[in-house]
Amino acid sequence: MAVFEKIQADNYEQILFCHDAKVGLKAIIALHNTALGPATGGCRMWNYRNEDEALTDVLRLSKGMTFKASISHLPLGGGKSIIIGDVSQKTPELLRRFGEFVETLKGHYITAKDVGIDSSDLKTIKSRTSHILGIAGETNSSGDPSPVTAWGVYNGMLACAEKAFGEKSLKGLKVALQGLGAVNYHLLKYLHQEGALVTGCDIQAESVERARKEFNIQVVNPEAIYDVDCDIFSPGALGSVVNAQTLGRFKCKVIAGAANNQLATEKEGEELLRRGIMYAPDYAINAGGLINIYHEREGYNRDKAYAHVAKIYETIKNILEVSARDKQPTNLVANRIAEDRVREAERARG
Ligand code: NAD
Repeated sequence: MAVFEKIQADNYEQILFCHDAKVGLKAIIALHNTALGPATGGCRMWNYRNEDEALTDVLRLSKGMTFKASISHLPLGGGKSIIIGDVSQKTPELLRRFGEFVETLKGHYITAKDVGIDSSDLKTIKSRTSHILGIAGETNSSGDPSPVTAWGVYNGMLACAEKAFGEKSLKGLKVALQGLGAVNYHLLKYLHQEGALVTGCDIQAESVERARKEFNIQVVNPEAIYDVDCDIFSPGALGSVVNAQTLGRFKCKVIAGAANNQLATEKEGEELLRRGIMYAPDYAINAGGLINIYHEREGYNRDKAYAHVAKIYETIKNILEVSARDKQPTNLVANRIAEDRVREAERARG
């Protein structure tokens, strides 16, 4: 597909192709929509197989950020950037040059961390642009996003438990955790405190051992997690875990977790509704990191940021209520709410 066909399909505002042969930089910055505020989203460095794959990825990711910011009622738009190349090719010169390109956008795009870019890379990028958030260790930094993402997921789970089981807490509910990494480790603390009965899995033995030792969880093999008899299935590892092969295996009433892109396609949302499984849309329930980082713009205050992230409870509750009222899949309801807010801002902007 030609570049403009791709851009027009989802109404992208601006795509900046950045190139500097001297430092070996090939990067793309995508601004999907800025009606609600500056396009905000991390920078990913990845060894894409080809440029088409890179463009497709940055377009998809930046549109996702528009939805995430909008459903979370943030005054931010959707953007993302990618640097094409293996992380072994990462040099200070390349990162600084990338920072200069970000700076040319004069704040219409705000960058942050994503796969392949760490906090020390962000510091290097920051030497050339002030439009950057989430540098760990700096004054005003919002810090590691994983604990606050877990806090958001926990609050979203509470909304699901109330709607699905009439429970105000997760006490006694059976929760299956797919992945016991950074986010789910913190989520486990909340589940443990509340007295949820957790079964978990991970492909890394150390993560499994940590969870077993500290929280005494039941452990199953990664492939068996789909068959676990549970109330809530919580994806916290991979994308596309709700797909044609797994749909028939779920024993849960609720799917609510941190992973991005949980549904293989939007169609799976309809199937979940048909099967009576309540799905908390991924970009709504896992928005804690974005909400938290947004608070750096106002002078970071942890208590304020965490109180804001707790509102994910309301966001998910509202989606579930509209879904039940309109008999529509929650993923489509969330998309509609997010899109309506963007359209409204566009109209206000004229
Ligand atoms: P992580 O890498 O720390 O944890 C993921 C864990 O999943 C790892 O321990 C890994 O071994 C495990 N895993 C991989 N394949 C598996 C499989 N087949 N079965 C079981 N376990 C498997 O990542 P994270 O930061 O905890 O993020 C988890 C998910 O949440 C990702 O999809 C991420 O994109 C998403 N997310 C994270 C954040 C954040 O703040 N970290 C924010 C939003 C969304």
